[in-house]
Amino acid sequence: MAELGEDVESLPRGGFRCRLCHVTVANKPSLDDHLHGKKHQRLENLRTVRQAQELRSVFVSGFRKGTLASELSDYFQAYGEVANVVMDKDKGVYAIVELQNKEVLEKVLAQPQHSLGGQKLRVKPREKKDFKYTPPRKQGSARREQLSPEKLAQNLCQADDVDAQMALMVQLFEFSESERRLRDLLVSLIQEVFLEFFPGSAILPFGSSVNGFDVSGCDLDLFLDLEKTKSFQASAKGPSEAQADNGASPERDSRSEDSILSDIDLASATVPEVLELVATVLRKCVPGVHNVQAVLNARCPVVKFWHKESGLRGDISINNKLALCNTRFLQLCTEADERVRPLVYVLRYWAKQQALAGNPFGGGPLLNNYALTLLVLFFLQTCSPPLLPTVDHLRELSGNEEQTTVDGWDCSFPKDSARLEPSSNTENLCSLLAEFFRVFENYDFAGCVISLREGRPLPLPSFLASEVGHKLKLGPFNLQDPFELSHNVAANINEKTALHFRRCCGAAAKYCRSLQYQRKSSKGKIWGLVRLFQPGSHEAEAPGAEGFVIDLPPMLTVLPAQSQEVLCRAGDFHQRWFQKVCTAVAFVLRDVLKCSCVETQQGSQEGWEATGSKQEKEQQEAKTEQLAGSKRSLEEEDDDDDNDKEGAPSPPSKRSRADTLLPAGKSVAWNCDAWHRVWLGRRRVRRQLHGLELGSEPKSGSLELEAKVSKAISQQEGEAAEPLLRFVACARAGDGMSGEQAARISLSFAPAPEQAATFQEFFHFLQGFLPRMVEQHLASVA
Ligand code: ATP
Ligand code: MG
Repeated sequence: MAELGEDVESLPRGGFRCRLCHVTVANKPSLDDHLHGKKHQRLENLRTVRQAQELRSVFVSGFRKGTLASELSDYFQAYGEVANVVMDKDKGVYAIVELQNKEVLEKVLAQPQHSLGGQKLRVKPREKKDFKYTPPRKQGSARREQLSPEKLAQNLCQADDVDAQMALMVQLFEFSESERRLRDLLVSLIQEVFLEFFPGSAILPFGSSVNGFDVSGCDLDLFLDLEKTKSFQASAKGPSEAQADNGASPERDSRSEDSILSDIDLASATVPEVLELVATVLRKCVPGVHNVQAVLNARCPVVKFWHKESGLRGDISINNKLALCNTRFLQLCTEADERVRPLVYVLRYWAKQQALAGNPFGGGPLLNNYALTLLVLFFLQTCSPPLLPTVDHLRELSGNEEQTTVDGWDCSFPKDSARLEPSSNTENLCSLLAEFFRVFENYDFAGCVISLREGRPLPLPSFLASEVGHKLKLGPFNLQDPFELSHNVAANINEKTALHFRRCCGAAAKYCRSLQYQRKSSKGKIWGLVRLFQPGSHEAEAPGAEGFVIDLPPMLTVLPAQSQEVLCRAGDFHQRWFQKVCTAVAFVLRDVLKCSCVETQQGSQEGWEATGSKQEKEQQEAKTEQLAGSKRSLEEEDDDDDNDKEGAPSPPSKRSRADTLLPAGKSVAWNCDAWHRVWLGRRRVRRQLHGLELGSEPKSGSLELEAKVSKAISQQEGEAAEPLLRFVACARAGDGMSGEQAARISLSFAPAPEQAATFQEFFHFLQGFLPRMVEQHLASVA
């Protein structure tokens, strides 16, 4: 390896990879060709130039916002020639000043204090970093378009058998080469900035970006390792001892004193304090990063962010070393047997469609993807013959150098999957999947603790007598973390979800026994995985299956007394009131939440039932109109921008048809499309808008403000090619419409069946939001 040079890495089967150019070649002659080729030579030269530039550059921060590159250049000219000044283009809070040569650099660094325009400047040498080639890319184009359930079904039906369908699932969902590259680039960008502020720190990705279960667009989980930074800081505190002890250079000492670190003592700072600092660096210094928010009350506190160009969402945590370790463990399992990935991809998707798992907004009683994956791995440890080794067995296989303890937990397992014996299990994917459902349909999740360490369910009495027995939080679903043995990764699961999980497994096991699962349809019908992904007969038990219904409280009293009287005196009082509420509902969905919303033509007594059954045809018809409508609405909003009336709701009479198309009977229905996750992060956006508009601040929670919030979220997410959610909303007046009864109106929602899980999140939000907004609208137009 040494004679290959640092840039070259040898691969299994005689291949090589050039790390500098991101090029993989099959053998030594091709490697030689590459190393002598134009691309490699050019990048080597570029690296030499960059490294020389780095050696004569300083990192400058602390200047006033809006400071020009020329002002910095003028300032540093006092020490000698300035070759170049590169401002941080996104936020303008730091700059790299390249000096003519090392002598000038030394003069600059010898000056104990710098100030510009009355501001004290922080000036320090550049951190040494590896040169990284950035291949040309189209920004933001790396993420695949989200695959609609319809397209997925079409693709799957064309495969030859279930095993091929399962392999296809991986291909359709995993990262493309460009998405992987984009993520690497974003990680190095963040790493580069953090190195400047936290010398010696490392940004390490974990979770689904790197554990082998990547799904296009999944979040980017990052761990910020500050161990070395802490020692830098400690050595800077006691320079004489530090230099004597470990030979730290004066340059190193001045580095940590000059950095943002001088504001905080990492050794004694609390997690929230450090995370607030991390949030500040992300917010102020990493180009393209927005919506930075420290979430401190989670089990593992994180700073959340969104990167605009890539559209990626990410988390940074600082005390999550065990996650790095379990990430590597999951990865090892995927490398141990090629059946692991397809099985996990299919089960994650199935569970999401059944509203059983996924990473729901705000937690909730669903299995998270990590827990579900562990359950699949446990199944593979316990099938016969086993397909994966137990974690105890892995520990036995690990070498001396692999013995690791993290936070007191034994995390030893081999790094290289080549050390594992191949499994003698020869079952195909189709039957393994069926077997998974069969095993868990009647599983006693409450009566044991599932242990991946031992590869068996531990009976409760003996588990309770064990060392960690009293520390693990027992519940209806007990799934022990393979490393942190006192942690139940399914502790959030309640009775109902545990039961639902077993029922869904039961229904799936039954379906897997049918020919429709096992054989491709010769008549072009859906078959195999496709039926499995549709909500099944167990639907009645699904959360939300009792119906997505919101009962609007009696709201007549929100009208001014006079209007109430006028309305009550009118002969068609019920109809008028119902019409007002319908107008308000349509207004909130369309103008406040930015959904496309088209009233169906059948506002009649049987409207709701009919809407359900004829839904498809009508949605098709409505689609064209909706698309045109949403485009129009975007254009209108642009105009609003010009007039400085951003997001101001337009008069309801302008767009709502509930006024003109009165129902003949008691219900009105709308075909709706939600294009963006307008239910997520509203509080944060609201705060941001407040910040921007002090002075002209709209009333908190007003229709106008909420419309702006939805608009901002839509803009942040970018234009969507397809709606995120498709649903029918129906307003229905209560029976026995007399007196006060007339005021009772219920709203039912029917999402497209395959979207029930995602719709549930939206619905939870609507339950609180919609009645409040409807009430406000009624009051405002009274
Ligand atoms: P995705 O983001 O695609 O849903 P993920 O595996 O990245 O999947 P996250 O919820 O983002 O899931 O969690 C990131 C990682 O953090 C997991 O892969 C796992 O390594 C670790 N992790 C998550 N939840 C737990 C938990 N309850 N206990 C221990 N580690 C966890
Ligand atoms: Mg993740």
